[in-house]
Amino acid sequence: MTVGNMESATLFDAGKKGRGLKASKELAAGEVVFAEPSFSAVVFDSFASQICHSCFRRQANLHRCAQCKFAHYCDRTCQTACWDEHKKECGAIRKMGRAPAENVRLAARVLWRIHKDSGVVSDSQLMSVSELEDHVNDLSEEAHVQLKADVSTFLEYWSHGRKKHSAEFISHIFGIIKCNGFTMSDQRGLQAVGVGLFPNLCLVNHDCWPNCTVILNHGDQSALSSALHSQRRIELRALEKIPEGAELTVSYVDFLHVSAERQKKLREHFHFECTCEHCSQHIKDDLMMAAADSEGNKPSAEKVKEVTDFSKECLAKIEECRLQGEYNEVVKLCRECLEKQENVLADTHLYKLRVLSVASEVLSFMQKFSEAAGYAHKMVEGYRKLYHHNNALLGMAIMRAGVTHWHAGQIEAGHAFICQAYGILMVTHGPNHAITRDLESMRTQTEMELKMFKKDEAAYHSMRAAISSSGGSIKDLSRKK
Ligand SMILES: [Zn+2]
Ligand SMILES: [Zn+2]
Ligand SMILES: [Zn+2]
Repeated sequence: MTVGNMESATLFDAGKKGRGLKASKELAAGEVVFAEPSFSAVVFDSFASQICHSCFRRQANLHRCAQCKFAHYCDRTCQTACWDEHKKECGAIRKMGRAPAENVRLAARVLWRIHKDSGVVSDSQLMSVSELEDHVNDLSEEAHVQLKADVSTFLEYWSHGRKKHSAEFISHIFGIIKCNGFTMSDQRGLQAVGVGLFPNLCLVNHDCWPNCTVILNHGDQSALSSALHSQRRIELRALEKIPEGAELTVSYVDFLHVSAERQKKLREHFHFECTCEHCSQHIKDDLMMAAADSEGNKPSAEKVKEVTDFSKECLAKIEECRLQGEYNEVVKLCRECLEKQENVLADTHLYKLRVLSVASEVLSFMQKFSEAAGYAHKMVEGYRKLYHHNNALLGMAIMRAGVTHWHAGQIEAGHAFICQAYGILMVTHGPNHAITRDLESMRTQTEMELKMFKKDEAAYHSMRAAISSSGGSIKDLSRKK
């Protein structure tokens, strides 16, 4: 698959949804439909000195641009590669005396690129950037006030030379960024660190149960030499077999919300009414709100309501304590909440899954792996009943569950989870992604340990005890970022 090749997708009129892309040939699960470099992208304000502005790799000791003192890079190679994109920006930041917010920086980068290369930068780009949807007319009054403020900051910032734009056109660019901007993560896909514009990707419509997924693939970023880093690009990957002519879809929201909630998010953020099959038929809503049903022992409706209300309040408290870093309190609240939910809410109930997710994550962080593993296991079983079998978030959750079991000394379960996660990530991320590579080495390591365990359990456990007392390799492998 070469970057920019659009042979597998065709633009078509998707009726009410506007433009869309459909498969121009049959696609297999895990196949890259297309890969696309960003038209423009910026690092978020909060990560400006921690993430390379060229390749978006997270790295200690980045080099700072000597002129604006704002942009940061891995090294000279990354700086040189990015200079074309940064040159005008560098001057504008110096002129203004500070860097404006990320959306203003992105709007300016988009416009500088349009001036330099026009809105269509390659033969395979199906639509000019300035022709993308902006939804400015659908914005709330509050959003309009913000937009006006952004436009005025932009005008102060923009080094236009002789080229000037109307406030209307600049608003149009802000609107495009707002509803088409793609959040970009660091090299391990663990944290959102920036936002970029990918014109062909913008043409892929939403479905809550999509047949494709989009991931950022930074290439071989484990290589320290930035010469081996690829340009920032996304890959649209098929999640299942897609017949020729079928519309290609991705999900703009996490599936783990009831349909009304997903529709609300989509309406507010993307300005459309989702009429996908899962929303219109409320598929899986019942599971996400289900009451427990152990051998016909259904709890009363009042009891379910009481526990649901309690869980909602408790989750808010949990989130607050977590933000404050009060982890012991978080664990205490989670245990209390799970106890109340027992035999009242089903294992697929969203409130239960949220508590399990926080509990396993925080307990892992506190290195209480056995308890964390128990929660992670339950959470994954619930997720499996709700998510598409190749959902990337499901794969990541199974991966974390595998690592937790491994740390807890439950090597059989740990290895099994890691193998399952590897199977999913081979589809959603592909073999060359940094996380898939991590999983591959974890798979090899746990396989070796499992053999050792089967041969001599006592010897295995003493080996593991030695590793954890020396703060050893297992932890390092899964914690490295
Ligand atoms: Zn870099
Ligand atoms: Zn600079
Ligand atoms: Zn939907």
